[in-house]
Amino acid sequence: MKNQKIIIIGGGIIGLSIAEQLLRRGHKPVVLDKGPFAKEASWAGAGYLDLRDAAHMGGDFLKLCRLSYDLFPHWVERMKQDSGIDPEYLLCGSLGLVFNGEEENVIKHIESITSFNGLQSEWLTPQAIRRKEGHLSDKLKAAWYLPQTCQVRSPRLAQALLRVLEKGKATLHENEEVRGFIRQGDKILGVKTSSGEIEGDQVLLAGGAWTGGLLDILGIPLPMKPIRGQVVLFKAEPGLLRHVLFSSTAYLVPRLDGRIYVGSTQEEVGFDKSTTKEAIEKLTQGAYRALPILEKAEVEATWSGLRPKGVDELPSLGKIPGLENLWIASGHFTHGILLSAGTGHLMAQALLGEKPDLDLGSFAPDRKPVQPHLV
Ligand SMILES: Cc1cc2nc3c(=O)[nH]c(=O)nc-3n(C[C@H](O)[C@H](O)[C@H](O)COP(=O)(O)OP(=O)(O)OC[C@H]3O[C@@H](n4cnc5c(N)ncnc54)[C@H](O)[C@@H]3O)c2cc1C
Repeated sequence: MKNQKIIIIGGGIIGLSIAEQLLRRGHKPVVLDKGPFAKEASWAGAGYLDLRDAAHMGGDFLKLCRLSYDLFPHWVERMKQDSGIDPEYLLCGSLGLVFNGEEENVIKHIESITSFNGLQSEWLTPQAIRRKEGHLSDKLKAAWYLPQTCQVRSPRLAQALLRVLEKGKATLHENEEVRGFIRQGDKILGVKTSSGEIEGDQVLLAGGAWTGGLLDILGIPLPMKPIRGQVVLFKAEPGLLRHVLFSSTAYLVPRLDGRIYVGSTQEEVGFDKSTTKEAIEKLTQGAYRALPILEKAEVEATWSGLRPKGVDELPSLGKIPGLENLWIASGHFTHGILLSAGTGHLMAQALLGEKPDLDLGSFAPDRKPVQPHLV
């Protein structure tokens, strides 16, 4: 498997993580992006690394999320050392906010399933909440505390990955769109791009929400929908908030420099990345409800990003059926940043013919879709 030329289509957090893992194993991958690297979903994402949803869903998805969560600290520290860029990985904990009986019932239901799946958590009284966070609303009835929630700034993580890839002499082409494939029977010989043709031994699709379009070119039906998420960024004083907050109206992620990221909607509006007045207002009010002191803070920016969602809530990881050397790592939906470490590790193993540390059968592109988890 040495000296293979592996072409990765898509330089978001997923494509870059796989490229970095290939580089660590002595390969020099080629990464192509139709735009600048990591400026789509991977730039827009909040970067909280949290096992609530995974523990709620259970099964192999929980195993995948846990594997990635466990790889994160060491992976990110090594990247920080090798790149000189700090992705601000923090173990900050999170609070699920309860203002009323309905919210309490929802969280208690989630708790009953997640505790069964081994997730540690604790209920806090209003007094105990105040000892953790001094500025939360005094209307809070209780909070569900998850000590293991972490966060990372995904644009910085992507910059660190890119620096490591540049230093390792990977081939990185921005603004080079893949528009077609050179195919011979069941084999892909290379890709046709906006600038010419590139031959390769293996090709991996990591095009995020655009991956479905790439498969369309080959006549392979594998749906990949963009799910828009809108975001509001507040500029506040450092230390105003320390934990990630989850509530029924918004979630808040505090950065070390005082900025507070407030997300997010889930909308099916095609590839439209605009923001809407209604959604921004709703998120802003959701933030004020949790942390009233934010009413004094400036809204610094708003934006949106497109999460890639496949046939269900799981990513597709593995070989495309019917083709010898075409792979996919896409559809990470709301978990792509959490899953970047694990996806890089497992896909590099699979691409290089090793047995992946986790069986990827549940994530096969042609699997039977799993039911959505309903809260
Ligand atoms: C608002 C929001 C909040 C989120 N919060 C979190 C969170 O807190 N935690 C978490 O774990 N996840 C979160 N996510 C999800 C996470 O951001 C995504 O799952 C992840 O970024 C997907 O990464 P990707 O590399 O697959 O896709 P992308 O980052 O979209 O990258 C795909 C890349 O492929 C390129 N591409 C596409 N087509 C072609 C082509 N034909 N040729 C060349 N290049 C091509 C694109 O230009 C793009 O750069 C959030 C997402 C959003 C939008």
